[in-house]
Amino acid sequence: MVYSYTQISQYLRCPRSYRYRYLDGWREKETRAARAFGRCFENALGAYFRDEDCGAALFKEWGVYRDASSEYKKGETWDRLLHQGIHLLQRFVQDDRVRVHNPQANLQMKILRSLTGGSEFVAYLDAIGEIDGARCLIDWKTTASRYPEGPDGLLSLDPQLICYSWISGISEVALVVFVRKHAPEIQYLRASISEEQRQEFGRLVGTTVNQIEEGHFSSHSGIRFPQNGCVSCPHLGLCLNNEQLVAANLIRKAGASELDWLDELVD
Ligand code: SF4
Repeated sequence: MVYSYTQISQYLRCPRSYRYRYLDGWREKETRAARAFGRCFENALGAYFRDEDCGAALFKEWGVYRDASSEYKKGETWDRLLHQGIHLLQRFVQDDRVRVHNPQANLQMKILRSLTGGSEFVAYLDAIGEIDGARCLIDWKTTASRYPEGPDGLLSLDPQLICYSWISGISEVALVVFVRKHAPEIQYLRASISEEQRQEFGRLVGTTVNQIEEGHFSSHSGIRFPQNGCVSCPHLGLCLNNEQLVAANLIRKAGASELDWLDELVD
């Protein structure tokens, strides 16, 4: 088996949901425009680092979705997202705070790590580069609202960044957050991940993989007002035996696939 951060975090959120998705093959229908836009935007960033026209790249990538029946949040349209994206790219170029040398090698880097028992763990790092001259691994995010910046050190608790630090051995990490709002904003958030955190994450991966391979898939609904994880879970229809919800949110493919780790690419 090849595991990824997406799989481990889904199991930790709710083992039942993991089983539905990765063993039974119930996949969420991907119709959210913002998610597709995020992927297009990241490809446009790649074009920028390769010295290509990043605005043209965004227009071309996002153009594929122009007539698609995607779900837009209130106030969002295809045009609006495009304009926000172009403004964010312009701001990013003006800021000139991020460097990625040798983009062929240092963007979308695939890293594999062997786990005890013969399985592997795969991660795709968005970039390894420099922010304000400091070398770090970088994760791009596009979002409609700002990420919290405090209290101090908050970002060092981000499990995805800890995962990437564990698999790459790089302690300096950063999120570059592209905030899609009326006045576009980019947050450059940096943190350090300690060796102790990396080792702890490695142990977490080991125990989680053991649980999966031993077949423990009990539900963990996490229902607690006001945060109810089931409400946003794509598998809610299966748990409630509600065919309408299943048909609206899910599509069933053949069960476990060796390519399930590809989810990591769109996370
Ligand atoms: S609806 Fe709740 S209990 Fe069911 S799979 Fe999703 S998170 Fe788990």
